[in-house]
Amino acid sequence: MVYSKIENVKAKMRVLFLNPPDLKREKFMKEIGRCGRRAVAGELWPQTGLAYLTAVVKDAGFTPALIDAMAENLSLNDLLAQIKKFKPQAVVANTSTPTFKNDVTVLAEIKKVHPAITILVGTHCSALPQESVSHPAVDFVIINEAEDTIVELLDYLNKKDDSDTESLRRIKGIAFNDTNTGEFIITEPRPYIEPLDRLPFPAREFLPNDRYHMPFFGRHPFATVIPTRGCPWQCIFCRAGKVWGRKIRVRSPENVIAEIEQIIKDIGIRHIVFMTDSLTLNKKWLMEFLDRILTRNLRFQWICNSRVDAVDLEMLRLMRRAGCKLISYGVESGNQQILDRAKKAIRLEDSLRAIQLTRKAGILSMAYFILGLPGENNQTIQDTLTFMKRINPDYINVHIATPFPGTEFYDIAKQNNWLVSTDWADYEEEGSAVVRTEELSAEELIAAQRRAMREFYIRPRWVIREIFRLRNHSPISARIRAGLNVIRTLFKSR
Ligand code: SF4
Repeated sequence: MVYSKIENVKAKMRVLFLNPPDLKREKFMKEIGRCGRRAVAGELWPQTGLAYLTAVVKDAGFTPALIDAMAENLSLNDLLAQIKKFKPQAVVANTSTPTFKNDVTVLAEIKKVHPAITILVGTHCSALPQESVSHPAVDFVIINEAEDTIVELLDYLNKKDDSDTESLRRIKGIAFNDTNTGEFIITEPRPYIEPLDRLPFPAREFLPNDRYHMPFFGRHPFATVIPTRGCPWQCIFCRAGKVWGRKIRVRSPENVIAEIEQIIKDIGIRHIVFMTDSLTLNKKWLMEFLDRILTRNLRFQWICNSRVDAVDLEMLRLMRRAGCKLISYGVESGNQQILDRAKKAIRLEDSLRAIQLTRKAGILSMAYFILGLPGENNQTIQDTLTFMKRINPDYINVHIATPFPGTEFYDIAKQNNWLVSTDWADYEEEGSAVVRTEELSAEELIAAQRRAMREFYIRPRWVIREIFRLRNHSPISARIRAGLNVIRTLFKSR
């Protein structure tokens, strides 16, 4: 089998966790539990998921290293030089749909110079394990939540017993090709981790923390913290519930606070994005968490997501006092039928109310919209354009509907012959459309996305408000740079 290439493993293995370099030097937003998208505003997100895996593997006695080649702006040759030096026996790479082709190409190049076992993690390979391991550069895929699985798999590989494939087949949550029999094996699903407090904090000492930036935090680097996992809703375009389960698993407020204290104390970062599908779903938990931030006098700025139907003024005011700067809402559409077909389970009035309350509490709002969901036509697009100006959030982002593999939307689009591209590199949400709808072509969706962004941002009302805001916030250079990047994207010709 492939792993027989490891020679005389006595101590526990050296394991490299890798965010592969993009061979075209582009940046993508990649996180193990997310679908991945092209970064168009110059943002660079921390590899917190890889840092979690690094932490559990280190605790289990292996020797880990982590290279975020995208953040470090490494070329392939730079990476290969580091690999020859570290000589990992296993390389665990974070992949996503738009970067999959790139990432397996990088793994193939690694295998040419160094015989490491390769393991993929992330939403794309979890949705398409067979297709992923059919690539000759991929030895194993870990499906969904990876912390327990990676330790078990590495423990097995460390023993280096090629004939014992039965033990390998008993490891839950993996896929591989058995090279003894030629059979594709997908093992039993792994139960989700509970309680989440048993996980160590992400090993951020392995990350290039000062390189992670996003426009809303200006020149300040930021960290991401994951307080909950799982989502009970079933929006057809989203994989959250499939990757981390339909039940919301919540860390204790004390556990999350301890991680924040460590971030502030050990790496000096005071800007945090809570990466959870909704921080506000459990009000009792949230109020307790906010109360602890305030009583400990923790001073940091933060951003989170929320569902529009899960906020009220009391919690928003406390969030503001505890340092919340911006809330992102998935508004998705200004047409109720489109929302209903997408199983979003919100009413248009919920979005209007959430944006109003957020503004009243003194928090900025970002509304995300999607154009091209089932049923989209010129009228529903017009409804969305009218609605986004009516609810008037501080910022919007408009994505073209992207049927990521593993979503119900992907199955619907495939069955109806709506997919116009099967090249995963096109599945990047920002600049290319890979579906059409019953009435609109992919090109019309791209044009509508650009029109929506222009109509929202190039309005006297928005421009005046932003100029006023910029005068009152420093530094402003990063936001101006981000704005210019977005505008360049809006106007670039295809
Ligand atoms: S509520 Fe949000 S996280 Fe949950 S399924 Fe819908 S889009 Fe995904």
